[in-house]
Amino acid sequence: MDGQVSPKAEAADPAARIAALLAAQKAAWAKDVTPAHATRDDRLVRLDRMVEAWQERFAAAISQDFGNRPAVVTELTDVVPVRAAIRHARRQLKRWMRPRSVSLAWTGKPASAVILRQPLGVVGIVAPWNYPLNLMLSPLTGGLAAGNRAMLKPSELTPAFSEVLAKAVAETFSEDEVVVVTGGPDVATAFSAAPFDHLVFTGSTAVGRKVAEAAAKNLTPVTLELGGKSPAILDASVQFDKAVPRLVWGKLLNSGQTCVAPDYALVPRGRVQDFLAAVKAEVVRQYPGLPANADYTSIISPRHYARLTRLVEEARDKGAEVVELGGPHDPDARVFSPVAVIGAPDDTTVMQEEIFGPILPIVPYDTLDEAIAYVNHRDRPLALYWFGDDKQAQERVLSGTIAGGVTVNDTILHLAQDDLPFGGVGASGYGAYHGEAGFLALSKEKPVLKQSAISGVKFLYPPYGRMASFMLKMLGRFG
Ligand code: NAD
Repeated sequence: MDGQVSPKAEAADPAARIAALLAAQKAAWAKDVTPAHATRDDRLVRLDRMVEAWQERFAAAISQDFGNRPAVVTELTDVVPVRAAIRHARRQLKRWMRPRSVSLAWTGKPASAVILRQPLGVVGIVAPWNYPLNLMLSPLTGGLAAGNRAMLKPSELTPAFSEVLAKAVAETFSEDEVVVVTGGPDVATAFSAAPFDHLVFTGSTAVGRKVAEAAAKNLTPVTLELGGKSPAILDASVQFDKAVPRLVWGKLLNSGQTCVAPDYALVPRGRVQDFLAAVKAEVVRQYPGLPANADYTSIISPRHYARLTRLVEEARDKGAEVVELGGPHDPDARVFSPVAVIGAPDDTTVMQEEIFGPILPIVPYDTLDEAIAYVNHRDRPLALYWFGDDKQAQERVLSGTIAGGVTVNDTILHLAQDDLPFGGVGASGYGAYHGEAGFLALSKEKPVLKQSAISGVKFLYPPYGRMASFMLKMLGRFG
């Protein structure tokens, strides 16, 4: 394989190893700056075959990392969306790659112009642990479609998965095409300091800030896919029998360890107890017999489990009502059964930080304006959910709030559509990907003006005389 870098010499020094891999990828890129459609398609085909061939091993490794994560969840949230994204990219690739012709103003004619879509070069992709395959390979799909080479850095919290991914990628791609770099925070820090042509970072807002700072030193552009507290607004017009199963599904998928999970629910004050009863019944319907339920994902680490316990205890200590929704917890197996928290004061951690677990704060509200103001007084969320039948109220929420993305009358699903750009705003991140947005995020749109043999610009050359004055008058009036 051309461009292989021996890890031996650089093993002790992650920065040196990353630099060597990056140099090899940049050298390979320079030999084929704008790869043809066939080259890109071949890479996408190989990626797809890799996911297909390795999917059971990925699912088993992810489950090992979590303690328990059902293979169905990995298939639903990691494997199927990635393969759909690859298929979508392959179908659209010729259209995405086509130069865009641009019609010029009369002042520019008879020149012509096009916008070329070119790869940026080598992109770095840093992924979190919660959907480790999807959040690595979805950005990679856009990157390969756009003609880039890529270096991948998975989370240290999914060591088994990272090892399988590294093997799968090494079998599928040469090191100067796509390569996986594994390791802890020291490797992650060195990785984000490397002079990539673009970095895609998915993770927490706190680490995202560090990554943006490190990348700024190289003027490396960054797509930041972060998290935050995504609200679910239950409108006065909501029917709980329709809304609650969808809300509970989105909240408890992967046990709430989902960036776009509804974090908390805004509920009309007079209906809080009815809502709570409906949520409780639905939790038991979807996950009977907790904590012994194989469909329920464990919490990723003892540290994360302890944090969730602390969030609930602190809320209880500060006067919130805590309601167990599904059954007892099992700390040894890290099964954190769903909990509702009602009336937690604003200064509790559960109301301040992204929860990232199966705890549902319920926030009562009196008027829709109050619910909208509640959302707008906080960081801009990655997702917002609205449930109800009243179209006017829906419109008021859509036009009155800003969020990374919205699903109306359901949860999560806006993320699953390749033609909808996915990304945050403000504290939930910047930039977007998926489908053509992912292709464009990792492309340079290069405007090219092609001058013609005849050009009036020469009348503006010095020495400036009457002709130049006349031309400027014309341009000032009609240009
Ligand atoms: P994290 O920020 O702790 O880690 C994410 C990645 O960053 C890991 O690969 C880690 O190794 C790496 N990292 C750690 N320190 C680093 C540094 N100094 N420089 C560079 N990289 C570093 O996040 P996490 O706990 O793995 O994931 C949970 C968070 O991710 C939540 O906030 C969640 O909302 C967010 N998230 C966002 C999305 C999205 O698409 N917007 C998707 C999933 C998760």
